[in-house]
Amino acid sequence: MVTVSLPTPVQPEFDTTIHRRKTRPVPVGTVTIGGGHPVVVQSMINEDTLDVDGSVAGIRRLHEIGCEIVRVTVPSMAHAKALADIKQKLESTYQRVPLVADVHHNGMKIALEVAKHVDKVRINPGLYVFEKPDAQREGYSDQEFADIGDKIRETLEPLVVSLRDQGKSMRIGVNHGSLSERMLFTYGDTPEGMVQSALEFIKICESLDFRNLVVSMKASRVPVMLAAYRLMVKRMDELGMDYPLHLGVTEAGDGEYGRIKSTAGIATLLADGIGDTIRVSLTEAPEKEIPVCYSILQALGLRKTMVEYVACPSCGRTLFNLEDVLHEVREATKHLTGLDIAVMGCIVNGPGEMADADYGYVGKQAGYIALYRGREEIKRVPEADGVQELINLIKADGRWVDP
Ligand code: SF4
Repeated sequence: MVTVSLPTPVQPEFDTTIHRRKTRPVPVGTVTIGGGHPVVVQSMINEDTLDVDGSVAGIRRLHEIGCEIVRVTVPSMAHAKALADIKQKLESTYQRVPLVADVHHNGMKIALEVAKHVDKVRINPGLYVFEKPDAQREGYSDQEFADIGDKIRETLEPLVVSLRDQGKSMRIGVNHGSLSERMLFTYGDTPEGMVQSALEFIKICESLDFRNLVVSMKASRVPVMLAAYRLMVKRMDELGMDYPLHLGVTEAGDGEYGRIKSTAGIATLLADGIGDTIRVSLTEAPEKEIPVCYSILQALGLRKTMVEYVACPSCGRTLFNLEDVLHEVREATKHLTGLDIAVMGCIVNGPGEMADADYGYVGKQAGYIALYRGREEIKRVPEADGVQELINLIKADGRWVDP
């Protein structure tokens, strides 16, 4: 008789897997957002779209370092027409790159032109305002609220139909900082107002049988952004909607704090399984955003695009200059993908704490280090040869590629 032993079920509190929210797949040119596809990385060029050569170079620069969808701005009809040249030039000199453009309600002709050239358009519900600002206003009656809803529908319909008929997609991008007055009066400056803004547009799209939608709920304050995305997920679940989410923290700033702030918002949601595409918005060159996106995804185990380094913080037991050696190991191996490499200061705790690294560089005794493959010590070598011997070991295992 054959006995089959079943794995012990994992108790939810000990589950180390991120269970991603189930979403529908939304096509954006050659990539897909949602539907279980890897979380997509995106950014935006800051070249003027009228500068065709500059824009092509900017898009290519971002795409070559891993940006999978590139956004452009289209403030005028001339910009919209320039996109046809940008697209054509990218395809003839490089390759097809999924493109998305921002469009505005007061330029529907521009939007319809843009929709011919890009794979996705982004609209901001907060900018669909038809009434003049009125300082005396104290609220909106149900009828006024509904009438404006009808105008929004009328304005949006041609764009929705165009995208639907071309099999393209739309991002409904709500921003906390630009909610319409009507939403502010009715729901306040709250996550609920953001969610209602998005739902109004989603329902218009659904009534026209268009469901290639991605939704974002950005805010510059992380707690507001977290609450808005979570509430959006709750409402979508209640309504049986499965649209993928685009995560981001707006105006995150620059430098270390900008990166930490973006990570605090984006990673917190991703860890809960929420989010299908991300953009880290930094007040820096867009190329600087891509490594941050990949670091967030790699740290959460959602994508593996680089070597995962495990290193101890060093302490009194450390037998070599850990910072220097980690730097040397990283420089020598950072072009490899999919490997976990540990650099640990001593054999007392090092081997036990280097998690499940594929290779380990561990302080053995003064002047000597030990190289590990998994949990097995392979050899002891003089510290001066350590990095080269590590490379030799990876080569001997057939896991090396030249940079
Ligand atoms: S692995 Fe060793 S050297 Fe590194 S922190 Fe732990 S005890 Fe200290």
